[in-house]
Amino acid sequence: MDIQQDLHIHTFRSNCGKPSNTVQAIIETLEKRNILLAGLTDHIDTVEQQPRFQTIAAANRADVSASPSPCRVLVGAEATMLSPQECALSSEMARRLDFVIVSCNHYHLAVVEKPKNPTPANYASHHLAMIRGAAQLGFVTIIAHPFLNDYCDVQLAKQTMKKYKEKELVETLQQLAKARVALEINPYRVVNALGWFKDLVVEGRRHGVKFSLGSDSHMLVRVGCPPEPIEDAKGNYTPQKVCDSIGLSPEDLIWPFLNPAAVA
Ligand SMILES: [Zn+2]
Ligand SMILES: [Zn+2]
Repeated sequence: MDIQQDLHIHTFRSNCGKPSNTVQAIIETLEKRNILLAGLTDHIDTVEQQPRFQTIAAANRADVSASPSPCRVLVGAEATMLSPQECALSSEMARRLDFVIVSCNHYHLAVVEKPKNPTPANYASHHLAMIRGAAQLGFVTIIAHPFLNDYCDVQLAKQTMKKYKEKELVETLQQLAKARVALEINPYRVVNALGWFKDLVVEGRRHGVKFSLGSDSHMLVRVGCPPEPIEDAKGNYTPQKVCDSIGLSPEDLIWPFLNPAAVA
C-alpha cells in the first residue's frame, strides 16, 4: 500500500520535537514523499498547558498558511487522556482545531492515572477504559499509538498485548465505530506486533472501525514514513511492508476529516 497520509507529526514547538522540525521543513519533506494529507499534532499533556497550547496551535496555523502546498496539512493536537474520565484538552479548544488525536497510554507521565495494581492485565483493562473514555468525549478523531504499552517497558508492553480480553476489546471497537474515532497505525511501532495488529485490522473492519497512519515524527527523517527499512526491525520491514503485512488497505483509512468551522 502506498502511504499517502501522515496524521501524527510533531513540530519543534513540542518539547520533544527537534529544532529541524519547522512547519516549512515538514511540509517540504511531505511534498518530497508525495504525502497528500498530513496533520501537525503537538503535545498537550495537562489541563494547565491549554493557554500555551493555544499559542502553539495558532503559530502552526500561521506557518501552514504561509506555505501553500499540494499536501493538505491539518492543524491538530496530540492530547493526553489523564484518566478514563478526563482529557488534557477541553472540548472548547478542540473545536478550534482541524482534528484531535488522543493518547490513551501516556503512562510514563506522572499526571496520568495508572491501574492501582500495575499488572499487565490491569494495564490492558485500564487502557481500554481510557480508549472508551476518549470515544465518549465527542471531539476525538484518532486514538494515537493504541494497545502498545511500550511507554512503560518492553516486557510489560509484550505482556499487556496478551491480556486484552476479547469481550472488552470488541465492546471498545464497537464504541469507536459508533463515535467515528479511528485507530492509529504507526508502522515504526506496529512492526513489533505484526500478528496482533493483523487480527485487529480484521476485527476492526468487522465492526466498522477506521484506521489512520501516523509516524509520530519528532524529526524529519520519519515524516511521511519514507520507504526505507525500519532500523529496529533488523532492516526487514519498510513502513509500507508493515501496512501490507497487517492487511491494511486504503479503504480502511479515514480520509480526510476536517472541522468546517476551523476551515472557514
Ligand atoms: Zn504519544
Ligand atoms: Zn506523538
